[in-house]
Amino acid sequence: MAISDQEIRKKQTTLEVAEEAREKEWRFPSFVGDLFLGRLRWDLAFPYPEQSAADRKVGDELCAKVARFLKENLDPDEVDRTGELPQKVIDGLAKLGLFGMKIPADYGGLHLSQVNYNRVLHLVASYCGSTAVLLSAHQSIGVPQPLILFGTEEQKRKYLPRFARGEISAFALTEPDVGSDPANMTTTAAPTEDGNHYLLSGEKLWCTNGPIAGVIVVMAQTPPKIAKGREKKQITAFIVETTWPGVEVVHRCRFMGLNGIQNGLLRFQNVKVPKENILLGLGQGLKLALITLNTGRLAMPAAVTAGAKWCLAVTRKWANERVQWGAPVGHHEAIAAKIAQMTSTTYAMESVTWLAAAFADRKDVDIRLEAAMAKLFCTEASWRIIDATVQIRGGRGYETAGSLEARGEKGIPAERFMRDSRINTIIEGTSQIMRLFIAREALDPHARRILPLLSPETSLTSKWKLAFGLVLFYAAWYPKQWFFWSDRKMAGPFPSKLKRHVIFINKMSRRLARDLFHAMMIHQRGLEKKQRLLGRIVNIGTDLFAMVASCSRACLLVSKNPSDETPIDLADLFCRDAQRRVNGHFHTLFRNHDAYAYRIARKALEGRYNWLEQGIIPPT
Ligand SMILES: Cc1cc2nc3c(=O)[nH]c(=O)nc-3n(C[C@H](O)[C@H](O)[C@H](O)COP(=O)(O)OP(=O)(O)OC[C@H]3O[C@@H](n4cnc5c(N)ncnc54)[C@H](O)[C@@H]3O)c2cc1C
Repeated sequence: MAISDQEIRKKQTTLEVAEEAREKEWRFPSFVGDLFLGRLRWDLAFPYPEQSAADRKVGDELCAKVARFLKENLDPDEVDRTGELPQKVIDGLAKLGLFGMKIPADYGGLHLSQVNYNRVLHLVASYCGSTAVLLSAHQSIGVPQPLILFGTEEQKRKYLPRFARGEISAFALTEPDVGSDPANMTTTAAPTEDGNHYLLSGEKLWCTNGPIAGVIVVMAQTPPKIAKGREKKQITAFIVETTWPGVEVVHRCRFMGLNGIQNGLLRFQNVKVPKENILLGLGQGLKLALITLNTGRLAMPAAVTAGAKWCLAVTRKWANERVQWGAPVGHHEAIAAKIAQMTSTTYAMESVTWLAAAFADRKDVDIRLEAAMAKLFCTEASWRIIDATVQIRGGRGYETAGSLEARGEKGIPAERFMRDSRINTIIEGTSQIMRLFIAREALDPHARRILPLLSPETSLTSKWKLAFGLVLFYAAWYPKQWFFWSDRKMAGPFPSKLKRHVIFINKMSRRLARDLFHAMMIHQRGLEKKQRLLGRIVNIGTDLFAMVASCSRACLLVSKNPSDETPIDLADLFCRDAQRRVNGHFHTLFRNHDAYAYRIARKALEGRYNWLEQGIIPPT
């Protein structure tokens, strides 16, 4: 399959726009960023951060109110059946202040910490996925989030109080032809002759809350600028009110699950947007969207971890109650193994979730990689857990809650939870894109040093200077990745069962840094195409991060309640499993059949194995 020059140019431009929109500055230390450099910053993750008593009190009180409200007013199975969230529930949530959870008190919001915000979403998600999505799409990525981060005082005064009172917002980035690479968007915003307005035209797909939102943040192409003699694409973010002429909800989308969400295809036809409604500045829209997603992603781990806990509760009861072949199904080893893994993984998910949220509340550490890893790890783990839950419930796992109830059994909605959960590895950055994003950032410290050396724009004198600096840096850095003298010392404060895991994490972080460097040397510019190699590197880093969070949290929990060693059991089991995965990934890092599998995939795409599809009624 030959690729045309036009396709190559388009890909090049897309990559340039995406690269330009990257958040390039590292103003604060990053635990995960340093992990990939072989520097394990235990000081950031140990002792495990604890919520202050005052902050916990705020969260406890609000969560108690929300739990009461939901139990008294909302039937999640009815939402699933009818496909609607009752207006009285939305009004009730607004009354509780839940549309202004992160909005500062000065603008009428609750100004919750990230941990408390996550706690509320965690609670809501354990009960009704659609309600959790309504709240999260509104303020994890919807207008309040970028407005708090980047809005002018005037914009904040105008809009934040409206959201705090309950006006719903949405985030419109995706289009029918652009999903993972928004740099290619076609929605445009052309300035009016007097320069005071922009005329917005285009379509945005799958905009969650879009059909009921009052205000939406919309990303659109504004006229290109000329830089260094070349035309540069500009993407700009606009605050758009849905009552303005030209905004239309073309279609409400329906999905496999999350039946109560309002999600739509929106059309904008010459919508007149005042220039005062530009967020962050002309040409800064993609950057704004990516930064918004970087922070907004922290809510997802909290939500899916709640789902995993719900699964544990369901499975524990069922695996004790259900007797087959003379024993409770949970006593059969094949099912017991699933339960053990679900339990230790849920523990690890929670450890990662609260650690990442606590990092966000510190404000002096960078969280973009931690949030992406937490999203990747928790959403993938949660899918395995819900799958195991349905399997352990057997036929009842597949049956709807309504049907179970109608024939006199408890209406346990494992089937609904499965449908509601499937989207989580797709939205707010698919798992594949998360791995690429993390890999790109992991390589950044090396790329910053090496790329200027390869650039034709760097003068020869500068290249000599750079090369000298590079040799000095790597002559000091590389040998360090082979020495393990501090590993045992670091394990000191940990309980004996966890010491070997701490030693393993320390050693493997340096092996990871070395192998990332080796991969870069071997593949050079071609490394970006080695997605499976990069994926393994990211998977190793993610497991190491989860091991750190799990071990550190076990220490905290045991220090608070020394007679209960159960957190150590769970951290130990999670780490044993993670060690096997990490070793497996290292083993296949450079010895694999990736290239062969890729060739087979290309042949499959060319239709060379079409004979396999015979004997069926083909999809239309
Ligand atoms: C229920 C729901 C709610 C949503 N809410 C919103 C919202 O509020 N606002 C909004 O803007 N969008 C929203 N979206 C869109 C969502 O963010 C996108 O679906 C997501 O970004 C993926 O884009 P896509 O579906 O177009 O997949 P594509 O980008 O077409 O990708 C298809 C597949 O290819 C993979 N892939 C793509 N590029 C690469 C690559 N370079 N390397 C390797 N693999 C790759 C992807 O991982 C995926 O598996 C929502 C979608 C749904 C279904």
